[in-house]
Amino acid sequence: MDITVIGAGYVGTTTAVALAKNGNRVILVDNNKEKIEKLNRSCLPFFEEGIEEALLLLKSKGDLSFTTELSKSIEVCDLLFITVGTPSQDDGKVDLTFVKEVSRTIGKGMNRYKTIVVKSTVPVGTGDVITEIIQEELNKRKVGISFDIVSNPEFLREGKALYDALNPERVVVGIGSEKAKKVMEELYSKYHSVLLFTTVKNAEMIKYASNAYLAMKISYMNELARLSEKVGTNILEVAKGMGMDSRIGPQFLQAGIGYGGSCFPKDIKALTVLGHEQDSPLQILKAVAEVNESQIDWFIDKLINKLGSLTHKRIAVLGLTFKPQTDDIREASSIKVIQKLLQNDSIVTAYDPKGTEYMKKVFSEVLYTSEPIEAVRKADAILVLTEWKEVVELDWKTVKGLVNQPYIMDGRNALNPVYIRSLGFHYSGVGIPAHD
Ligand code: NAD
Repeated sequence: MDITVIGAGYVGTTTAVALAKNGNRVILVDNNKEKIEKLNRSCLPFFEEGIEEALLLLKSKGDLSFTTELSKSIEVCDLLFITVGTPSQDDGKVDLTFVKEVSRTIGKGMNRYKTIVVKSTVPVGTGDVITEIIQEELNKRKVGISFDIVSNPEFLREGKALYDALNPERVVVGIGSEKAKKVMEELYSKYHSVLLFTTVKNAEMIKYASNAYLAMKISYMNELARLSEKVGTNILEVAKGMGMDSRIGPQFLQAGIGYGGSCFPKDIKALTVLGHEQDSPLQILKAVAEVNESQIDWFIDKLINKLGSLTHKRIAVLGLTFKPQTDDIREASSIKVIQKLLQNDSIVTAYDPKGTEYMKKVFSEVLYTSEPIEAVRKADAILVLTEWKEVVELDWKTVKGLVNQPYIMDGRNALNPVYIRSLGFHYSGVGIPAHD
């Protein structure tokens, strides 16, 4: 099929590569000239394992191309994928400016029947909004062209994006016509995934409900971790025992310093707002967000308890991205931690294998290092905030000889407490008793 993907971000670029790999001819469009120039030089505008190599190959075969010219790309394709950003507004509502802008351009440029697939995460009812905008533009042009809106939310995980896009556990497809169903069945016929056909509104809700559920699991484990430290239970053992129950499952039971990233915080806000608007509040989600926010305070309070005060203390932050294997720092817990450290007049050093350049734009006063070992020199405490291999597999024995005070706060429970303590460190994880 001839496909145009609109929005060359994490989702759009990965989607375009996956679709081209599966035998389609794909044009990836973005209105950011710099991004398209980079892609035309086969450089990925972000870090994600395996995509740059795939992109280079697909581009050389002519299966994937990049442009800023949306109007032309609309004419030549059968399917359009909308993958633009849907950020949070200050009131928590979703800002649909980019989605609406793109919809208008589609309405202006549509020359024959198109299936328009929405992959961006959008509130329930957005499918109808897009339909109205496109129809309005068609009416202005006085043309009668039919089209279908499909909701096909994306569930990929950054860090494993290409694998997930090629091997989705399930594909949720919200449709309103048999014609759209056939197109989507054909599109996904090469994937070995289960397809769930449902209504557009149901599909839109499934995305939010899934992300909020995962965040809920994290906040629940984080509250249990705090209690565990009080009563002397080990959250790692607790999670292991819970996860052995197939009704619960082992995933997303990891306690830590809270969730971040470009999706969970904004999607939870959006679903919460929707609940309020409809006079059907989601009280659980209010608690999920509050626990996540206070987890950072709890972590910093523990650090203050250890060091007495943070003023003029040298704190080494290891890991800045919201998870490993990505350069994405959007809503990363590290941002809130560093903010609090700086408010307390700490001297902050930081290391991250991929996220440093982005973080420099957020905090210019942090001393960034290109090697973890440089960040820990003369530190009064080390904070592990992202479980990068480069951090977990550090030569901790050497580190012990470089620090000023041997405090390690492991915000991801990524290190081996027994080994780390055997080196003479005061190790503190999340929900791990002092003796474990
Ligand atoms: P992103 O910010 O990385 O990329 C969005 C891209 O859209 C940008 O490159 C921007 O320049 C482009 N864009 C905006 N307006 C445009 C226009 N008018 N024409 C052409 N391009 C335009 O965002 P992302 O992380 O890829 O997320 C995209 C959507 O997918 C969001 O709704 C997000 O919630 C959802 N999502 C993201 C993830 C993830 O892990 N990042 C996972 C699942 C779903």
